[in-house]
Amino acid sequence: MKKTKRVKAQSNRVYLSEREIPKKWYNIVYDLPEKPKPPINPKTGQPVSIDELSIIFAKSLIEQEISERQWIEIPEEVLKIYLLWRPTPLVRARNLEEALDTPARIYYKYEGVSPSGSHKPNTAVAQAYYNKLEGIEVLTTETGAGQWGSALAFACNYFDLKCKIFMVKASYEQKPYRKVLMQMWGADVTPSPSNETEVGKRILEMDPNSPGSLGIAISEAIEVAIQDEKNRYSLGSVLNHVLLHQTIIGLEAKKQLEKIDEYPTIIIGCVGGGSNFAGISFPFLMDKLYEKKKSLRILAVEPSACPTLTKGIYSYDYGDTSKLTPLLPMYTLGHDFIPPKIHAGGLRYHGMSPIVSKLYADGLIEARAYTQNEIFDAALKFAQTEGIVPAPESAHAIRAVIDEAVRARKENKEEVILFNLSGHGFFDMSAYQDYLSGALEDVVLTDAEIEELTRKLAGYPRP
Ligand SMILES: *Cc1c(COP(=O)(O)O)cnc(C)c1O
Repeated sequence: MKKTKRVKAQSNRVYLSEREIPKKWYNIVYDLPEKPKPPINPKTGQPVSIDELSIIFAKSLIEQEISERQWIEIPEEVLKIYLLWRPTPLVRARNLEEALDTPARIYYKYEGVSPSGSHKPNTAVAQAYYNKLEGIEVLTTETGAGQWGSALAFACNYFDLKCKIFMVKASYEQKPYRKVLMQMWGADVTPSPSNETEVGKRILEMDPNSPGSLGIAISEAIEVAIQDEKNRYSLGSVLNHVLLHQTIIGLEAKKQLEKIDEYPTIIIGCVGGGSNFAGISFPFLMDKLYEKKKSLRILAVEPSACPTLTKGIYSYDYGDTSKLTPLLPMYTLGHDFIPPKIHAGGLRYHGMSPIVSKLYADGLIEARAYTQNEIFDAALKFAQTEGIVPAPESAHAIRAVIDEAVRARKENKEEVILFNLSGHGFFDMSAYQDYLSGALEDVVLTDAEIEELTRKLAGYPRP
């Protein structure tokens, strides 16, 4: 603390009352000048039909997946549960600004206040609700870091649905407490690859010590879901309906910023499959599309160990390892890619949301990649200034925020930076311990490795 300067306590938080919570989700597809291409059936080469998809997903969710309506009503039952932690705070990061000596004003939307500690319940609650409405009894899913699994477990618990979760083995071992949390909310958790599915058995035969991957766990969860009429599969990122549900984040943030007469010049989010990034940015991107805010920059941040947007190719590809999903038009590192065991488990995915991919291909958003040590440096800086321990995933956004704020200082530019703090890192202490003891390795995927991976997609259609 500087002794010579008088300290003035100013408010940091912008509140919304419960009555001001948005009542509709925003569907950006309506506003896109060019729509993303549809998913296609690999056997027929034709767009997948609703019937084909309805073996895997609830019908209402498929309707949302292909919907081109601009606004979709949030059901009262979903709002009721949102109100347990929403509206979430929008916070001015004054202490971080001071530490960086930047003219930039930095705001973050804090999604770590949800019961499971991230943005993921925003879609989990909606998905559980629609499945219940359609008479489904079991939801199966995969989880990487455990964030999605705990969000879905939480949601299923409210709607009296069984929840069966395949958890990537690397995370199952690194984060035993996430598993306990899922079990507290009544879920059944299995490390993946497992012996419970054909896919899992095949992988284990080839490599009994396989650390697993999201791609493999998705295959296991889908395999179980399609075996029973009362089972459906639930995905926590990537798909259009998931991004739709997450727009509550940006819609709230927009109202909060309006209250203090601010509008961002840069919006930053980390990307795994793209859902929290979409959630914070799409309601603002709408203004950019309408030419009102042409200069708004939107930045997606990913790990150098899994550089889907910055180094992947734009191609149709499978969403999972054993090719059970339709082909999706997206940036990808190839469905065989098993990302290195980095600590941001939620960002270890070979693909990217088709909408986010389309926006990137069209030059409407930017992307950047960082290594683990760069990320944890930023996380520590944030914990020491703003007090919150961020999830390693969220720390990717923080790294970029710090770099942009420092640039603003050097260029003496008045930037208004908004970012999504997608979750807290209270379950990530082993990662922080590794970092503090200097044991964290930087993994960067080389160009040769990427070429090798993406060469396998040579025969796949390009969007
Ligand atoms: C899952 C997760 C992510 C990555 O998923 P997206 O769909 O890209 O948002 C980011 N942050 C946290 C805290 C997560 O749990």
